[in-house]
Amino acid sequence: MANNSMKNIFARAQARIPGGVNSPVRSWKMVGGDPKIIAHGQGAYILDWEGHRYIDYVGSWGPLILGHAQAQVVAAAKQAIEGGMSFGAPTEAEVELAELVHDYFPAIEKLRLVSSGTEATMSAIRLARAYTRRSKIVKFDGCYHGHVDSLLVRAGSGLATLALPDTPGVPENFTKDTLVIPYNDVAQLESLMSTHSETIAAVIIEPVCGNMGVIPPRLDYLAAVRKVTAKHGAVLIFDEVITGFRVARGGAQELYGVTPDLTCLGKVLGGGLPVGAFGGQQVIMDLLAPLGPVYQAGTLSGNPVTVAAGLATLKVLGSDGVYEDLEAKGQYLEEALIQVLKRWRLRGTVNRVGSMLTLFFGVDSVTHAEEARRCDQQRFARFFHRMIACGIYYPPSPFEAAFISLAHSQADLEQTVHCFEEWAQSECDG
Ligand code: PLP
Repeated sequence: MANNSMKNIFARAQARIPGGVNSPVRSWKMVGGDPKIIAHGQGAYILDWEGHRYIDYVGSWGPLILGHAQAQVVAAAKQAIEGGMSFGAPTEAEVELAELVHDYFPAIEKLRLVSSGTEATMSAIRLARAYTRRSKIVKFDGCYHGHVDSLLVRAGSGLATLALPDTPGVPENFTKDTLVIPYNDVAQLESLMSTHSETIAAVIIEPVCGNMGVIPPRLDYLAAVRKVTAKHGAVLIFDEVITGFRVARGGAQELYGVTPDLTCLGKVLGGGLPVGAFGGQQVIMDLLAPLGPVYQAGTLSGNPVTVAAGLATLKVLGSDGVYEDLEAKGQYLEEALIQVLKRWRLRGTVNRVGSMLTLFFGVDSVTHAEEARRCDQQRFARFFHRMIACGIYYPPSPFEAAFISLAHSQADLEQTVHCFEEWAQSECDG
């Protein structure tokens, strides 16, 4: 039995897997302690190896908008598995998926599936460079677009968590064409675009930042980004790997009414299986091989099991009232958390768009990465551990979004607020 304790499993993990995890933010480096070893997920809950149940706000970092092991998704994936797991040849289901994505995202005239969000952004950038015949890329401080070499500059997510401004292993040459400016600042973007007008291939942005915690765009910010990129002939890439199908059926572009040239998708699109996708204007997408000269490929791209899980997920999301329900849950949680902060005079703020939300402690507002970095990380660590002890699994970093799913019940949300209140009270007395 001892050999099967979580402590033991994690010790084994550390011996054979760097840091014991297959993606850095899964470690609890930011908050201290060993991560829980997860055994099961069902609906809004995960169970660890020792049988403790948690209300889960990580949701596999965004994909599980329907909750864990949702019945239709499981049935679709099982059926697909039984029909053969991969062909490396066209299938009807992948066509149906591309058509459905187009229904939800009219700007995605053509779509190509890949196996991760990282591949999606990497491919979109290659395409944008080929289309414009320019080389420079603009990204925003704190926005994370996967671990593409050229985009690992002032990225958020695990890099924010680990306070790595950059990473060894990426030659300077690879990032020399990447320009970084603050998010939510139109003047800086306009000035940068004017200075480098003829050389900027693309501007890539998380339309709602989710990797410095949630940071919503200011009013009209995305429209301004659209205007200035069009003016200078740069391709506007919305990285909707998190926000796609999350903040609205048609992502942030639907919510804010701003149309990019290219969109990157991932997470929800795969229903919990590995996926990514990029798509947009036909005139750009048709540059891809085999139609055009831009090479891009993938052995498991359009994998039938992923496609089946994704289609099942997207179909559920097509039902009436889904996004109203997610909004109501998000609004309840946001307001209740803010009330608790006020009641116990804890300085902090909650940023939220729909069902993605972040609690920042020690700051009054967060509109860009620098402000996020000023949050109280020690208080966050205390909060995190108390929530875990109370059966609430919040992301183990202050710089991540917490995700609410359709499976979260009102009772789950109330239990979460109750745990938060108990912690806040103890924090106030302490
Ligand atoms: N883009 C955004 C906005 C993301 O949040 C992520 C991952 O969290 C990625 C891209 C990379 O996706 P993946 O982890 O599937 O490579």
